[in-house]
Amino acid sequence: MSWKNIIGQKQQIRTLRKALETERFAHAYLFTGPEGSGKESAAFEIASIFNCRSANASENEGACGTCPDCMQIQSFMHPNVEYVFPVESALLDPGDSAKKENKRFTEAKERYDALLEQKKLNPYFSPAMERSMGILTEQIITLQHKASFMPREGSKKIFIISQAERLHPSAANKILKLLEEPPPHVLFILVSSRPEALLPTIRSRCQAIKFSRVTAGELKLWLQENRPEIKEPELSFIVSFSRGNLRLAWELINSRDSTQSESTTIMLRNKALDYLRLVLTPSRFHEAITLCEQNAKNLSRSELSLFLAALLLFFQDVNHRRIKPDFQELNNPDIIDAIDRFAHNFPNPDFFQISTITEDAIRAIERNASPLLVMASFTADIRALLQRN
Ligand SMILES: [Zn+2]
Repeated sequence: MSWKNIIGQKQQIRTLRKALETERFAHAYLFTGPEGSGKESAAFEIASIFNCRSANASENEGACGTCPDCMQIQSFMHPNVEYVFPVESALLDPGDSAKKENKRFTEAKERYDALLEQKKLNPYFSPAMERSMGILTEQIITLQHKASFMPREGSKKIFIISQAERLHPSAANKILKLLEEPPPHVLFILVSSRPEALLPTIRSRCQAIKFSRVTAGELKLWLQENRPEIKEPELSFIVSFSRGNLRLAWELINSRDSTQSESTTIMLRNKALDYLRLVLTPSRFHEAITLCEQNAKNLSRSELSLFLAALLLFFQDVNHRRIKPDFQELNNPDIIDAIDRFAHNFPNPDFFQISTITEDAIRAIERNASPLLVMASFTADIRALLQRN
């Protein structure tokens, strides 16, 4: 990590750098802002700066990202950095020697480790165990215990509390105690996209840094500078698709297959447009149904939601060009002819309704609905809406 890995957030970085340079870092911060704005990865950046072996980590670029300490932080193994998120109570209780108890713990530990693996791949992902009641008291007691050990000289212990609004009430009271008498060698960074749900007494003891939603321009510029291998049309697609949510942008970037000439993203978009053509050709509607069944079977949930999102972005482009024929800020600038053709052939569809059913279908797929049922009813709906012309 390094400062330049933080996308957007110029003012926020300036405030944090200034605090570091003047050695006026607060003992507790509350990083707030929308989901996917990068607040938690910024917290890890701070953790790296305080522990990086590179001599001028704080003044220059930020942490080096390559020394043993930086590497340990990236793999969630650093003794000075504690990362807390909502877990299941089974994880905190290895149980006695009774086998059944141990099994519950082992299974919970596997789920916990899987979430950390996901976080390693995507720094904008916020892990939370599904059966969790929130951040539990035992987790904060462990922090209290760890706070009593001194870090190596010149470094700090960093406690990063993810989704702090999910602190269980008794855990919140325990952390409040820690914040009231903060050990000088500990830095707390609470992270929350719903800070209003935190105890006011906790909020008042933290210095708040408010992160903004990353704009399309900021994300595009960052990708051009740091991931030059991502070219148009994929670049614009990633920027439009993620709508300022870096977790989504990162999922697309991770799914890139550099061995293929066409990116997965663009391949899915083209698949989506082929499907749309079939849906709209009356004589080939049965082929559309078959294709829809195949897709529901063969594509993963994230691919299906990308497939639907590609349609959504295409409809947006059509609507823009329909209203303003010289509109240039397209999601899909590479297929402008297809967009204009569509706008010409379907001059007056109900785009509001089309967007609504597409967004509903994406949400249903993400919420584990049956892909086949969702895709079948989407296909029928979209056909009806477009045939009204
Ligand atoms: Zn380093």
